[in-house]
Amino acid sequence: MKYRLIIAAAVVFVLTVSFSAAHLDQESPERRVHQHLTSRQPDAGCDCDGSELCTHLPLVIIDTAGTDIPGQPILDADNHEIGFTTTAQGEEMLSAKISVISAEDRNHHPSDQPDLESDMLIRIRGNSSRYFEKKSYLVRLTDEDGSYRNEEMMGMAPHYEWALHGPYLDKSLIRNYMWYNIAGEFMGYAPNVRFCEVILNGEYQGLYVMTETITNGEDCRINVSEPVENTNQTGYLLRLDRGSSTPIKNIQTFTNYSYRNMQKYNIQYPRSGDLTPELTAAIAQDFSDFEKSLYSYDYDTDDYGYYYDIDVQSFIDYFLINEFTTNYDAGWLSTYLYKDIGGKYKMVIWDFNSACDNYEQTTLEPHHFETQLTVLYYMLIKDEYFVERLIDRYRELREGVLSEAYLNQYIDDVVAYLGDAVERNFSVWGHTFETYRPLSPDSRNPADHEEAIEQIRDYIHERGDWMDEHIDILLQYCHESKVKKFNH
Ligand SMILES: [Zn+2]
Repeated sequence: MKYRLIIAAAVVFVLTVSFSAAHLDQESPERRVHQHLTSRQPDAGCDCDGSELCTHLPLVIIDTAGTDIPGQPILDADNHEIGFTTTAQGEEMLSAKISVISAEDRNHHPSDQPDLESDMLIRIRGNSSRYFEKKSYLVRLTDEDGSYRNEEMMGMAPHYEWALHGPYLDKSLIRNYMWYNIAGEFMGYAPNVRFCEVILNGEYQGLYVMTETITNGEDCRINVSEPVENTNQTGYLLRLDRGSSTPIKNIQTFTNYSYRNMQKYNIQYPRSGDLTPELTAAIAQDFSDFEKSLYSYDYDTDDYGYYYDIDVQSFIDYFLINEFTTNYDAGWLSTYLYKDIGGKYKMVIWDFNSACDNYEQTTLEPHHFETQLTVLYYMLIKDEYFVERLIDRYRELREGVLSEAYLNQYIDDVVAYLGDAVERNFSVWGHTFETYRPLSPDSRNPADHEEAIEQIRDYIHERGDWMDEHIDILLQYCHESKVKKFNH
């Protein structure tokens, strides 16, 4: 038994070392571009005559020839969502044109020669955000024959699919940009992001964030193996949320049919066109096998330990960034994990619009932890090794990218970078400080952009202080009195 333990430990060590090396190779933080530090600044100047919009940020021009973009929620008489609008031809996505003006050596104007011009398919994206007045969009670049077209976007690696996110609920405008980039500093893959301004059919729409969607790409994004022909082997990406409208993507796994998980997993990659019923079933079985071992009495043993199946560091980092920001959809909704052939599961962060005290309800106050209750963490948190590593990692991050000094400087730099783009955004959306106040009680809604930024700073201060003092309480979940029937 003792020797088996030593061998198991050696295997884990070798796997961890080789995995970390590969991981650094692909996703080294040095490759992370923080647009606000490296791109054209607001004071760079321009010699135009000021007769049209002039911005240091990239400019995205969308032309639908006046046709409405599909994807608006359709409600029945009782205000229940019964579907989404489509094109006149009944399609989910509309063919349209996109131009991007993003050259680094000059400011940008609508009449400038575009750096990227393409056909595209576009629809409104999101869940609750589909109801917002300021829409977010899913964009797929296409060639004239309709096939997908991979293009570099504002310096981000070439891909055909992008999310054009319009901060609206987040009146600071910086939550997703900031936390995706901070996550990208210490986790594996986190979606890359670039601020830009959008014009739709000639009308200025305000500030947006061009965002990589979480999917696979050639040497970019999650970067896993494509389906291997004539086998059921493939890298795959799963989403835990409300399920997909494409039936072949939806899977039933152990935690569903044992009623431990009331949400739904669906396959995000491979794409539906590459899925067969057999491949979908094989992915469901592979993930189900992992869940069964995670929820078994020997989940932490040298024969079946969860650490053979998951990248422990990735799960710890995901837990910490979502707890630090009390981003409590994480683990329930918009939750992504992926695995390459022969690899381990890794987590990917997504959506910080409600993070740092921006939920409507007041119940999500900063003095507690929640992620340990989610389906992926419920068992991990019973293991002392996991919890101790998590606490150590927290202390380490608080000396670096999660320190208050680093985060305050980050916020200062991002706000300075946005410059007068903030004012332009609120020239369209400024009314929301009065007309859209979803947070309760009402006093939590910021009166202006400055207050929205201060709210994040205050929250980081309060949350950081509390977690510094209380992170050790997570040890209660792995204490012998609580887990003796599981742990040996
Ligand atoms: Zn100009």
